[in-house]
Amino acid sequence: MQDGRRIAILGATGSIGAATLDVVAQLARHSPAADWRVCAMSGHSRIDELVAAAHSCQPPPETIVVSDPAAGERARDAIKKRDLQQTCRLDLGEDALVRAATDEAVDTVVAGIVGRAGLESTLAAVQAGKRVGLANKETLVIAGPVVTAAAARSGAELLPIDSEHSAIYQCLAEARCLHARSAPATATAGQGPGEGQGPGQGPESGQGPEQGDGQDAVDSGASRQDNDDAPGHLPGVRRLILTASGGPFRDWSTEAMQNATPAAALNHPTWDMGQKITIDSATMMNKSLEVIEAKWLFDVPADRIEVMIHPQSIIHSLVEFEDGSVIAQLSPPDMRLPIQYALTYPHRLPCPAPPLDRGRSWEMSLMPADPERFPALELGFEVARAGGTAGVVLNGANEVAVPLFLNGKIRFTDIARLCKQTLDDHHHESSPTLQRLLELDEWSRRRAEKIAETIQLA
Ligand code: NAD
Ligand code: MG
Repeated sequence: MQDGRRIAILGATGSIGAATLDVVAQLARHSPAADWRVCAMSGHSRIDELVAAAHSCQPPPETIVVSDPAAGERARDAIKKRDLQQTCRLDLGEDALVRAATDEAVDTVVAGIVGRAGLESTLAAVQAGKRVGLANKETLVIAGPVVTAAAARSGAELLPIDSEHSAIYQCLAEARCLHARSAPATATAGQGPGEGQGPGQGPESGQGPEQGDGQDAVDSGASRQDNDDAPGHLPGVRRLILTASGGPFRDWSTEAMQNATPAAALNHPTWDMGQKITIDSATMMNKSLEVIEAKWLFDVPADRIEVMIHPQSIIHSLVEFEDGSVIAQLSPPDMRLPIQYALTYPHRLPCPAPPLDRGRSWEMSLMPADPERFPALELGFEVARAGGTAGVVLNGANEVAVPLFLNGKIRFTDIARLCKQTLDDHHHESSPTLQRLLELDEWSRRRAEKIAETIQLA
């Protein structure tokens, strides 16, 4: 049975971080004999909340990581105020995230930082052979081939936390598909995801830290794009169907969306999440990023991934098999379930997320998505088909566009335009190194800012 996990929560002050703390607290309460504990937790700017959360952990974490080096003084004060200076060590700066992610005392890392800021620490955890509960989808969007290749080398287990990908993982696990895959057709030795294992699924015991610097050119996916007959795909699986709530503007016309305010876009009908992903949900860029995430996580071509609108957010995703049978995972919209699954897999334990209320009737609808009104959605498929440098460029442009919209500098509908224009302006490369991807991250941000100047509101 599960004997607990020693966990580093990166992004502990966020929505995923708070939900993870709740899950670990309950696991520790319900299984006192097992060693469920938070060893390290990070925050960037909300220092008082971070230290308060550390204070309420039982026992408190050995390390509090404050990734913003300018917040050191505030962090020391907050730790002193809570009388934690004897118990918790403060580690400061971006490098401290990597130290926490690779600490020998940690076996599981929850990657809950938002955006590109989570890339280095998530990759470091993968290279160190940890179990990684992956919420930070941007890491796979930017560097999917680098991350999956590193997991194959180190034996790291990539367990999705994103609810759709957790749903697919659960469907595949229950259908016993995870361990039956053959190696991808074109991956060179040790480089392809899977290597005969399940998606991101290493051996139970990792082979220790992986020393590569991640600078090698990797199979970026261009060479195995969308060949339906290529081996390496999940056997017996016809397609993965990601559900999307459709966000607050599901039924809005394009004209209405042009004048959508940040407040309206932040008002998600079913999920309570951080700002960036909430805006991504309104544009449906979130689903776009999730298509790319699914491609890398499950090693399936874009043409075997579909998106359906499901406004109630109860069916978290579906897997269609070759015989036409469809298996889905259902639960109320509460991230604590996928987070806990990533921590306890392959076991299932009682969870603080409520179960479906069987005392009421549930309406569940599924309908096709409308790419005309949500042009961001098509970009995800385009990028998933292209592989290589396309993901980092899309992500960089989007990370620039979202705050511009929130600050009233561009319209809601400009977010997808800006991303598309940045993608169109870039020269695609199919096998970039990690270094090249980081350069293109910078390039795409500068390019998107430039384009934004031409479309800024008066
Ligand atoms: P959030 O905004 O609530 O929290 C973000 C966390 O990242 C905070 O702890 C913050 O301190 C940290 N952070 C921000 N900038 C940083 C920086 N420059 N350096 C280091 N740390 C930094 O975000 P969230 O909603 O919890 O989302 C986190 C990730 O999980 C995102 O990638 C998101 O797409 C993914 N995700 C979230 C949900 C959800 O329900 N919230 C669901 C699925 C996937
Ligand atoms: Mg999701």
